[in-house]
Amino acid sequence: MKLGCIADDFTGATDLANNLVRSGMRVMQTFGVPTAPLSSDVDAVVVALKSRTIPASEAIAQSLEALKWLKEQGAEQIYFKYCSTFDSTPAGNIGPVTEALMDALNCKFTIATPAFPDNGRTVFKGYLFAGAVLLNESGMQNHPLTPMTDANLVRVMQAQTQRKVGLIDHTVMSRGTAAIAQKIKQLEADGVGVAIVDATSNEDLKTLGPALKGMSLVTAGSGVAIGLPGNWGLQSSPQASALPIAQGYQAIVSGSCSLATQGQVAHYKTTGLPSWQFEPLNWSGTNVQQQIKADVEKALSWAKPLLANGPVLIYATTDAETLQKVQAKFGREQAGEWMESALAQVSLGLQALGVKQWVIAGGETSGACVQALNISQMQIGAQIDPGVPWCYAPHHDAGHLTLKSGNFGTPDFFTKAFQVLVGAGA
Ligand code: ADP
Repeated sequence: MKLGCIADDFTGATDLANNLVRSGMRVMQTFGVPTAPLSSDVDAVVVALKSRTIPASEAIAQSLEALKWLKEQGAEQIYFKYCSTFDSTPAGNIGPVTEALMDALNCKFTIATPAFPDNGRTVFKGYLFAGAVLLNESGMQNHPLTPMTDANLVRVMQAQTQRKVGLIDHTVMSRGTAAIAQKIKQLEADGVGVAIVDATSNEDLKTLGPALKGMSLVTAGSGVAIGLPGNWGLQSSPQASALPIAQGYQAIVSGSCSLATQGQVAHYKTTGLPSWQFEPLNWSGTNVQQQIKADVEKALSWAKPLLANGPVLIYATTDAETLQKVQAKFGREQAGEWMESALAQVSLGLQALGVKQWVIAGGETSGACVQALNISQMQIGAQIDPGVPWCYAPHHDAGHLTLKSGNFGTPDFFTKAFQVLVGAGA
């Protein structure tokens, strides 16, 4: 393994893995820290944690556990991945986790940059922009858990770091890799431990990559990944995203109510392919769990004779108005939990019927289904839409899956996904 990555949330982990694959690496993503050694021959592993907003001490403990496993598997460089809006507070977790990893690796200097120009995240003079506006004008200032009220990342990072924080600004970036390497030496000599890096284009990130060669720890959003595989002589290639041949039946399980997913369900139905909808408003009384079980059985008996003909869609996706009614009836959290449990049971049932090609829509829904299917590792394949790749889970015969969170994907995503899988010669 060349690059060992620690991501502070699940969908961010896939985003990073996707960028690495597109830049030529074969990548495996794990959910949590694996208990066994790495079983596949890959260039990078992304360990996905859920450590973004948990207490800093727990985030540190989990990250160090991930680090230990990655080093045991031979990782030459460690990449700590956080959100491209630098989601954190003065209590952490970006600063404290970065410092704990530096201490463990005996690393004197690292960089920090959430720049991801393809997603509109750019850093200029140390200030983070989301699209055309500063981070603290982007809506992130009102985030319920990590309100970002200052766009100056040098200040933000300094508030959560013991080490001195510096800046590699755009004037250095524009002078090329050698100038960046020189600046890093100078910052280190000045006692700087972490430097924010300006980047406003993919070119900047590609110029930065070679200057990071040999740095034991890199901390960044997923953007910096595009400049790293070249340090091992790797370049974009179809081999990086090659997955085993897809087998088994096809199913789409959708629990996302985001607008994009609503559009994808609507589009899928226009194709005439079969679909089955959960109607939670029909649930009532004290034995809801049993009603859910009965609905799951209905959905599975409906799907059974159809699977041989092509994909089936089983969904809870609904519009905002109906969702509000369901949430008013059961409470927001309870409704979500029940729906997730229903869809997880559906996925387990579909697996028993022979489904091995999955489109799962919804971040939380994906989490519930992946857990039900006992998937702990997946290899990352070709991108279907930006940020959403096909994956292959080698264990427990789970097969191929794509986890589409919220607002990702074009309206024809549900049908296009299977075409891409076939088209890739997978
Ligand atoms: P997204 O990625 O779009 O945010 P998630 O799966 O993360 O999607 O979240 C959607 C949440 O809404 C889940 O908890 C899901 O169980 C819940 N949900 C989906 N459909 C319904 C419904 N019809 N009624 C109530 N809750 C629902």
